[in-house]
Amino acid sequence: MEVWPVILFYKYVPIADPEAFAAEQRALCLSLGLKGRVLIASEGINGTLASRPERIDNYVRRLHDDSRFRDVAIKLSHGDADTFPKLVVKVRREIVTLGVDDLKPDQHNQLVPSHWKRMLEEDPDAVVLDVRNRFESDAGKFKGAVVCEIENFRDLPGYVDRLEFLKEKKVLMYCTGGIRCEKASALLRSRGFKDVFQLHGGIVAYQEQFGNEHWEGECFVFDQRMTVRIEEDLVQIGRCAHSGRVTSRFVNCLHDPCHRLFILSEGAERENPDHRLCPECLASGLSVATADYLRPAEESDR
Ligand SMILES: [Zn+2]
Repeated sequence: MEVWPVILFYKYVPIADPEAFAAEQRALCLSLGLKGRVLIASEGINGTLASRPERIDNYVRRLHDDSRFRDVAIKLSHGDADTFPKLVVKVRREIVTLGVDDLKPDQHNQLVPSHWKRMLEEDPDAVVLDVRNRFESDAGKFKGAVVCEIENFRDLPGYVDRLEFLKEKKVLMYCTGGIRCEKASALLRSRGFKDVFQLHGGIVAYQEQFGNEHWEGECFVFDQRMTVRIEEDLVQIGRCAHSGRVTSRFVNCLHDPCHRLFILSEGAERENPDHRLCPECLASGLSVATADYLRPAEESDR
């Protein structure tokens, strides 16, 4: 299948009329035949889109022509026509949902990848914190990173108490592209964490420069690809939740109310159909025969 560029971008910037702007974006994306997801809120834009190269170029040009988005960084990876099933342009309260009112995203404490990396290597008080979801760090993360046992970014405010042991450290946080860190940083500082630094541009910008240095495994992405790898030569850290086999194959738990993403090897699924349930649901006594089956997959937010 033809390789398509996949772009990832965001910016926190006031949007006066999100509905009107979403209508413009929808019309533009449709006219260019783009697929993917664009979330718009009064606080900004968060998008990931795929199409043929000339169409993506055209979109990026149009976005940069708008003075609000002249400096939007575009992160590039590769997919194909199946990376996104369709186009979704939506207005949301937040471009990435944390659910904490009156929290202004932090932009003063972002470190470019080379500075972030140097602090990681040279500062004995530095601790790396992964603010992504549990299933994302299951597939890959910076070595030695503290990970959060959360299923959704909006669970982070309730989880911060369990990060108290980092309060006197230099926290080097990261997420996929940087959008979550801007809010996570503001959240941690509002809870008394003093030394918080963000990886500007996230894992994607870091890996463009430094490949897999300090990194292990693959990078989870919120589309049909599930994970991407920057270098073919890597140590996979993803493990089947049932068998422990090495794989980065994600499935949703078949029990509808649970629906959590977990890693499942094809072998373990063949051996026992009940392995389509996550370990927690299976341990609670459910089986495929008794579980409520899944609805068609929904568009996922972070
Ligand atoms: Zn489950």
